[in-house]
Amino acid sequence: MALKVCKFGGTSMADGNVMNRVKRIIESDDDRRLVVVSAPGKRYSDDIKVTDTLYKCHSELESTGSCGQTFSVIRRRFTGIVKELGIDLDIEYVLNETERRINEEKSVDFTASRGEYLCARVMAKLLDAKFIDAEEVIFFNENGTLDGEKSYAAICKAVEGELRCVIPGFYGCGADGKVKTFSRGGSDISGSVAARAVNASLYENWTDVSGFYVCDPRIVSTPKVIKSLSYKELRELSYMGASVLHSESIFPVRKANIPILIKNTFRPEDDGTLIQPSVYYKPSGRVITGIAGKKDFTVIFIEKSLMNSEIGFIRKVLSVLERYNIPIEHIPSGIDTMSLVIESSRLKNGVLENILQGIKEAVEPDVMRVTEDIALIATVGHGMSSSIGTSARLFKAMKEANINVKMIDQGSSELNIIVGVKNDECEKCINAIYREFFR
Ligand code: ASP
Repeated sequence: MALKVCKFGGTSMADGNVMNRVKRIIESDDDRRLVVVSAPGKRYSDDIKVTDTLYKCHSELESTGSCGQTFSVIRRRFTGIVKELGIDLDIEYVLNETERRINEEKSVDFTASRGEYLCARVMAKLLDAKFIDAEEVIFFNENGTLDGEKSYAAICKAVEGELRCVIPGFYGCGADGKVKTFSRGGSDISGSVAARAVNASLYENWTDVSGFYVCDPRIVSTPKVIKSLSYKELRELSYMGASVLHSESIFPVRKANIPILIKNTFRPEDDGTLIQPSVYYKPSGRVITGIAGKKDFTVIFIEKSLMNSEIGFIRKVLSVLERYNIPIEHIPSGIDTMSLVIESSRLKNGVLENILQGIKEAVEPDVMRVTEDIALIATVGHGMSSSIGTSARLFKAMKEANINVKMIDQGSSELNIIVGVKNDECEKCINAIYREFFR
């Protein structure tokens, strides 16, 4: 029998009513046998996500020695859900245990992970499924990365012979044996790990939108939904800020060529977006797949005569950044010039000044200039490699919108064109590119 892993995000877990809806979705397909859940999210726009309340619990614990006051919010939320669902779960006992452990462990990761833990306990009861604690099946290496092989083996073993199982997302067991979380939104990664472990036929990611939009609907009104895209396109788009799926969640499934289907819990009849292995990609005549933008980059421009013939020049520059542990996003270059594009948040508290001094000492540039408040916009699509004039259309659209191009970077993979513009022109630029290719 085929096996699908379905991960449900926070809004799909927001209250008892939605959880019942999720139960119907799961039970409508016998292949949906492994379920991964996030912590309950917002019920209305200014509601607070359970995970955010848990981070507050930790702050309270740090300042007063106990999380009790804030934990009462969690308590109310889960007792309400269990009451609404009418399930036979001694939630008072589970909550008491959870509060006790939070106070005892005093760990931010442990505290933050309890939303997923409690939610999975509830869902397992609702679905009459086996609850598998992520602490026992998802493992991290010493350096904080996922220990894939160990996790896959443990998940396989835990699900063996079971009809249906529920695993909490977002956390696992660190190398020190203590609960450790992924970064925010990390339940998407847990779902992907589970799908890879059981070699699922499909990884369904249920959220509150009907798929991946061509660009951010907060920037362009009612953009088109992307019907299908490749892992590579998704990686580019989500890295650049398209936020439906955690950008790291494709890695486990990608290795096993497992497709991901984004679905809307509130409109299950919509097709959603299918993310396929790049090998299955069929050119569809589409030039551009999506557009995404990210603000707040800093560009360090370096000029030195005969830079191109000076052996080791780039290495010397990069070693300065390595010394300060700063990742570089792009390095556009000319014959005697190079630029380093870096996330501005990495350069705070004197780091930028130290780097500039380090570069000065390492390579004695003729000119060095810093431009801040730069937004990067990625226009992504396999289709552009086989269609002449894509960049011409893109730059024409920018010119017509009167947008100054500060930087251009196009990899030879021809999968994307990245332009740098001023932060405050980011939205205008995305709109202009969207109009050119989609309207
Ligand atoms: N609950 C966690 C968060 O809010 C993880 C997740 O939802 O995926 O980030």
